[in-house]
Amino acid sequence: MKGCGMEHIIGIRIINLDEVDSTNEYAKRIAPSSPEGTVVVAGKQTLGKGRRGRKWASPEGGLWMSVVLKPEVDAADMPKIVFIGALAVVDTLQEFGIRAGIKWPNDVWVDGRKICGILTEGKLGKFVVLGIGLNVNNEIPEELKEMATSMKLILGREVDLGRVLKILLGNLDRWYRSFLKDGSSVISAVKERCFVLGRRVRVVEDGGELIGQAVDIDESGALILETSKGSVRLFYGDVSLRF
Ligand code: ADP
Repeated sequence: MKGCGMEHIIGIRIINLDEVDSTNEYAKRIAPSSPEGTVVVAGKQTLGKGRRGRKWASPEGGLWMSVVLKPEVDAADMPKIVFIGALAVVDTLQEFGIRAGIKWPNDVWVDGRKICGILTEGKLGKFVVLGIGLNVNNEIPEELKEMATSMKLILGREVDLGRVLKILLGNLDRWYRSFLKDGSSVISAVKERCFVLGRRVRVVEDGGELIGQAVDIDESGALILETSKGSVRLFYGDVSLRF
């Protein structure tokens, strides 16, 4: 029974790999024949990716994982699946004494630097793969040092990767159940933790660039921006606070 028993959904089966091209790609390959809640974890990714084919640096020491989900939802719910990942990561970092915030739509940041990226992909009506890349003990590549951080850098010590995974799976399970019960609970939780809200931001998206005040995240997960030309609803974009 989905979402109502006490049994965990997320982590029902865990596949541990030393190395993989991308945990999302692997999860997509096995998704059709895998139960919901199957988790793929890899020691490192050789072709880790972000949105739009951008590269995600994934050397050893980080937490690179993807979860196979099979919710009975439509495309409009995809942003909420991303938020489940972000909320679970924020709660996990909190358990290690790290205060993190959500940068709409798909990142988790600490002290002005990115610590985690989230990428969902899937086949409509069949499955969704929720990918999470969290910098734990891994080195941050030179070119990203200005804008990225890790748990190790923040805490000044290595962290038990297995413990991070265990706590994260528990938090993912809790937020996923919450989502299945009531999608709006996910949106209100994100609004509380999204540091973009109330700020003047620049958003770069397909059609160009927009500048305005980020005032709200609506029930569908869209960012509401008040611009000089009126209010705009954004479903996608790269937000910058410093511009
Ligand atoms: P964003 O979520 O920031 O909009 P993407 O989802 O496209 O961006 O993620 C890819 C981008 O994240 C890369 O272009 C790079 O700037 C940055 N990046 C890559 N690897 C890491 C990492 N391990 N930690 C933090 N940032 C990274």
